[in-house]
Amino acid sequence: MIDLSITEALQKLQSREISATELTRAHLDRIDKYNPELNAYITVTRERAMADAAAADARIKNGNARLLDGIPIGMKDLFATRGIRTTAASHMLENFIPEYESTVSQKFIDAGTVLLGKTNLDEFAMGTFSKTSYFGAPVNPWQREKHLTAGGSSGGSTSAVAAGMCMGATGTDTGGSIRFPCSITGLVGIKPTYGLSSRWGCVAFASSLDTPGPIARTVDDVALLLRAMAGHDPKDSTSADFNLNLETPLKPILGDGKKLRIGIIKEFANVKISEDMKTLFEKRVSDLKSMGAEVIEVSIPNILDALAAYYIIAPAEASSNLARYDGVRYGLRVEGSDVYDTFKKSRAAGFGDEVKRRMIIGTAVLSSESYEVYFMQAARVRRMIADAFNRAFDGCDLIVCPSGAGTAMPLDSDMTPLEYYALDLFTVAMNLAGVPACSVPCGMAQNGLPLGMQVVGKMFDDVRVLQLAKHIEQFACVDNRPTKIMGE
Ligand code: GLN
Repeated sequence: MIDLSITEALQKLQSREISATELTRAHLDRIDKYNPELNAYITVTRERAMADAAAADARIKNGNARLLDGIPIGMKDLFATRGIRTTAASHMLENFIPEYESTVSQKFIDAGTVLLGKTNLDEFAMGTFSKTSYFGAPVNPWQREKHLTAGGSSGGSTSAVAAGMCMGATGTDTGGSIRFPCSITGLVGIKPTYGLSSRWGCVAFASSLDTPGPIARTVDDVALLLRAMAGHDPKDSTSADFNLNLETPLKPILGDGKKLRIGIIKEFANVKISEDMKTLFEKRVSDLKSMGAEVIEVSIPNILDALAAYYIIAPAEASSNLARYDGVRYGLRVEGSDVYDTFKKSRAAGFGDEVKRRMIIGTAVLSSESYEVYFMQAARVRRMIADAFNRAFDGCDLIVCPSGAGTAMPLDSDMTPLEYYALDLFTVAMNLAGVPACSVPCGMAQNGLPLGMQVVGKMFDDVRVLQLAKHIEQFACVDNRPTKIMGE
């Protein structure tokens, strides 16, 4: 049962070949077996899961099945869940139990999913290996004896999906946190167009970049999850009033003489990537050509400055968003001699090093001496990148590029903060521009680990992004069944 895709499971649930209760129990058993080793979940919601499953079974029996009725999912522990601890993987929120439900998690309740638990992540979603989690890093299920990273910040979600500890999961992508983890765990994940999925009730990192999105093992599954989570939300002022016309299963966008112009970003050509990544990316591009796609070079002149701009804008917004954790209104409180001392002691104890580093950078670039030279300059670069994407999409329909430079690295890699930041080179520009981008497996490297590539579209072109990703998935044929990954 563990190896079923969501699409397959829904059919079996509908035909009553399996029940949601059985499916849920199978996943909970799997969590018992592997979570101690993989650390994908911070909180497992066993009773809630069994109750959700029973309710789903009753609806299916009565012929009132919903879009995802009975599908067991994991929820990134950044989405507030009513009555269920929501930690953002921080000591600051270790014991925070929200009294409200985030829009995204509510939409999954409305779609009939079964909540298995809250998945691990980098503290406040700041990181690339999920190592900044207060609860310790999740482990990549691929070659698990090697203790490789499952990526970050949505690394608990990718570890859980890849190991079969849930069928799909939510992530958030501020600078690549869905796409990078998916690329090194053989999974599919989309950062939708900014504003397509609601941020309401999602712990804020950098509000102009934060984008909730789905993670699963197939492109069609991701499309199903996106259908459930997208939609206008009056509670989020940046939510887009856009009706995503997303039919599942996705229809082919290539073949039968269909015309499609695919852009390759010129400026990425000289970025150092592994030989495997290079070969597989080129292979997939020539596959798309063989289906009749026209491949053209496009230019995003400032794309290599995206990293620098991102690491000014994101910390700036974070420093402002995280000011609310002061020991008075939210989270951990360490009593001080007066109110300022309480602020200081609570924040010193509650946040980890990376979060503090970001807040210090953010506060510095927003100071009156630095604002013009750093923050405004970064905002200009951001605008230029967004404009360049727009222009590029005049000449092509979709863009493809790698998701990262290579395969999963060991969790104990010794890297400086700047070396970690550099890993986001291929992903941050899409957040700055707001455009949709999906990471899909493009093949297996020589070392037996999966690699991923991105499909990028213009604003609100998420459906075509997924359609092209599905073609790539079919060519790449990466076997990401959990039993295979876990060597069973
Ligand atoms: N690795 C990036 C960072 O550390 C992206 C994080 C994210 O997308 N949440 O900021």
